[in-house]
Amino acid sequence: MSHDTYHQSRLELDRVSKRYGRVTAVDDVSLSLTEGEFLTFLGQSGSGKTTILKIIAGFENCDGGTVRVAGVDVVRKPPRDRDIGMVFQNYALFPHMSVTDNIAYGLRRRKWPTERRRARVREMLELVRLAELGHRSPRELSGGQQQRVAVARALAYEPQLLLMDEPLGALDRALRLDLEQEIRRIHRSTGCSVVYVTHDRDEALALSDRIAVFHEGRLVGLDRPSQLYDRPPTGYVARLLTDANLAPLPDDTTIHDGAADLTVGGRRVRVTSTATQPAGARLAVPRTSISLQPRAEEHLSVEATVSDIVFLGEHVRVDLDTTALGPLIAHVPMRQASDRMIGETLRIHIDRTRCQVVI
Ligand code: ADP
Ligand code: MG
Repeated sequence: MSHDTYHQSRLELDRVSKRYGRVTAVDDVSLSLTEGEFLTFLGQSGSGKTTILKIIAGFENCDGGTVRVAGVDVVRKPPRDRDIGMVFQNYALFPHMSVTDNIAYGLRRRKWPTERRRARVREMLELVRLAELGHRSPRELSGGQQQRVAVARALAYEPQLLLMDEPLGALDRALRLDLEQEIRRIHRSTGCSVVYVTHDRDEALALSDRIAVFHEGRLVGLDRPSQLYDRPPTGYVARLLTDANLAPLPDDTTIHDGAADLTVGGRRVRVTSTATQPAGARLAVPRTSISLQPRAEEHLSVEATVSDIVFLGEHVRVDLDTTALGPLIAHVPMRQASDRMIGETLRIHIDRTRCQVVI
């Protein structure tokens, strides 16, 4: 047994599965989290995210597979012996205890000496920027402040691993963005390993070292945010992360060695492919890869009719009908769309290098 390899993984899931009656909530999931990593589980409601967190924390048993924390199999350990901190969506603070006592709770249970405990609570209050509010009761705090107390409480006893289940879900947008910053700062300053659950892709992209995408209990993508965004492994991930267009492939498409050749707008072009054969595959066309102005040689050029124009502030959404690739949605800068009219026919230009054939 090599201790070195174990020390690099804070958490390892190996073929973890969980069924509830006929529903397979978690389907053969394997992944690992390195020391200090911020990993986000991203998926729609019902994709199994919470169930996996419960299995990691020990609030739920798995039917098959192993969970290791720092190399140790914890499957048969009760939650309190797993050294894992948890933060839930609904704060779950003890309402009858002050903020200070909430944060001190785990320290008392672990029998930290009084002085050390007090110092730690002060430190945590400062970390979440609530130094003046330790005496208050949770109901005297705003939602965002309560959530910061929940984070402080979970981190106080220095758990090896912090699990957060949609901790910002109940908050309004401005507060969410503030707390995202706060969580990033806390993660950087404590160096703790984090598994963070959300259905919000912007949150996932902003916070994570890596993102694990779940769909119907299965892990369907796992990579750094920029990589998943630019090179989604499947059409599902492309839609979830970028709202990419998924166009049908022309009949003459051939695929070999990670590249697809297809004829678009009368020209034979090559794009990367994660699919191994054309059957069932589609061309992922990012919305921002489409331009209404002529571009470099590299670009695909097709004829399109404008079916709608929607001003969205920083960019304009242009809905297009094309013969070559079916309906497409483009996000273009304001100046490109300013003279355009619904019903107009024009040539659009698609950055081939940002397109990809996916299954
Ligand atoms: P998510 O957190 O991604 O929204 P969950 O892990 O809560 O998803 O749920 C995954 C699937 O398992 C869903 O179909 C859900 O209905 C089902 N499920 C979760 N918990 C239970 C339970 N205690 N009993 C029966 N089915 C459950
Ligand atoms: Mg959930």
